[in-house]
Amino acid sequence: MIYLDHNATTPVRPEVFDAMLPWLRDGYGNPSSVYALGQRARAAVEKAREQVAALVGAAEASEIIFTSCGSEADVLGVGGGAWQARDESGGKRRKIVTTRLEHDALRLLGSQLRRRGFEIFEAACGRDGVTDAADLASAVDEQTAVVSVMHANNETGVFQPVAAAAAAARRAGALIHVDAVQSAGKEELDAKAMEVDTLAISGHKLNAPKGVGALYVRRGVRLSPVVTGHQERGRRGGTENTASIVALGAACELARRDLSAARAHALALRRRIEAAALKIPGALLNGEPDDRLPNTSHLSFPGLDGHALVVALDLEGICVSSGPACSSGASTPSHVLTAMGVPTEAATASIRVSTGWGTTDADADRFLAALPGAVARLRAVPSSL
Ligand code: PLP
Repeated sequence: MIYLDHNATTPVRPEVFDAMLPWLRDGYGNPSSVYALGQRARAAVEKAREQVAALVGAAEASEIIFTSCGSEADVLGVGGGAWQARDESGGKRRKIVTTRLEHDALRLLGSQLRRRGFEIFEAACGRDGVTDAADLASAVDEQTAVVSVMHANNETGVFQPVAAAAAAARRAGALIHVDAVQSAGKEELDAKAMEVDTLAISGHKLNAPKGVGALYVRRGVRLSPVVTGHQERGRRGGTENTASIVALGAACELARRDLSAARAHALALRRRIEAAALKIPGALLNGEPDDRLPNTSHLSFPGLDGHALVVALDLEGICVSSGPACSSGASTPSHVLTAMGVPTEAATASIRVSTGWGTTDADADRFLAALPGAVARLRAVPSSL
């Protein structure tokens, strides 16, 4: 099997698996227990906190809160920030300024907040997949509770104007949240230098298992908890998932160690993939060609259905996707491509190819050997549209 869908999820690295295993078997103590079994688990959780803090560029390990996934980290950052800011401002701050490109975790939170009296402003996006920074900044005012911008888009890989958003938020005294779920481990992150208040990452996008994530919360920032309880210093309740937290820490450490080599390898693979794929007649690259994640290519082959192409490649043992994993299966254009103004015939004929740890040149070549034939066969069958 050739796995080229690392933006959907990633395999667990063997070193990560080995690191977590003892905590599933013998290290079952509750990290809040005072006896040695519990305190060993506590020490493992705190080591992982330092490893995560180092990857995201936190000033202190205590700025990291462990969560059950990236979605929960996003919801704690934006939802927890919004409720807190609204309460602290006596109800004055009830606006969220965001993009049209966010992950569904945040889009659906936005719908919920709207029903509960918040105004949601979604800044326009260019044909290149980059949010219009001026449009976004113009909406940020004294009524704004949170500005929320993803670092890199999960479909196109295109980077978003986080620095401009953070500056606008600071001027208005609003919080700034960054969804870095797709960029963590692929690009350098420096939460301190980015001057953001909260930043979300997810374990399963960087070779740790599913079901663990983390939120960076700048020291001094207050959030209304989503899961209440005493753990994580009252900011996120629930007995810590020691094994998964240890895995996340180990994955962050490996990602940090390997970042520049992994980035260079991903860029070389991306060039190889795009140079060959774009030779197919009518093929198009969606999104800003340069300023994007090194591992992501979003390609359209007008004249076929993207979902059918995913299935055709799957029959040859190749995994790519035709949209975000949580919504694939539908051949309607994604909200991201719609926001970019990609014409329907190109949007519905698109696939996302995302490489990652373990992807070899030979994998790329096998994909490239299968792609032109699959595209030609589907284009020859009008009913595949
Ligand atoms: N944010 C982005 C940009 C994502 O791509 C994803 C997952 O696809 C998430 C958030 C949600 O992360 P998780 O699957 O860990 O809940």
